[in-house]
Amino acid sequence: MFSLTPPVELDHAKSYGDIFTLVKKAVKRSLELHRVGLMLYLGNLPIRVGAFHPMGTNEIVLNRRLLGSTKSLKEKSQVFAILVHEYLHTLGFSDERQVRRLTYKVCSENFGKSHPAVEAALTGPWTDLTEEDFESIEPELNLELVRDFERIDSGYII
Ligand SMILES: [Zn+2]
Repeated sequence: MFSLTPPVELDHAKSYGDIFTLVKKAVKRSLELHRVGLMLYLGNLPIRVGAFHPMGTNEIVLNRRLLGSTKSLKEKSQVFAILVHEYLHTLGFSDERQVRRLTYKVCSENFGKSHPAVEAALTGPWTDLTEEDFESIEPELNLELVRDFERIDSGYII
């Protein structure tokens, strides 16, 4: 059934919102899961951390120091893999090893095994912050909301 759909086109994505649209498409194809209502921020996280999802919120914070650009395919691939990982957390998966395994599955099924997104899914960085860590670095975070992150399908307007 999926073989009729073209592969996810990351090369043409220009913004975080473009990449996230592809993340949702890829997770839907591989795992048949979907949710809406997420917000993305850029923030200055510690260098070993790719992103952070405070449990129970609808927020994802990407590390501006590592993922502050979406120009090259390598950068897009890293953002893609990190967003798949955090998106799976927002879908309720809390076991870190399971989330990494599913991130690899989503990336390899949608791009093929030699794509840089698969490499990014294998290498991380996957260090998770605790809520306490996050609170302690809050003064330096310099959070910036990414506008137009989530495009809601037409017909969903409230
Ligand atoms: Zn994680």
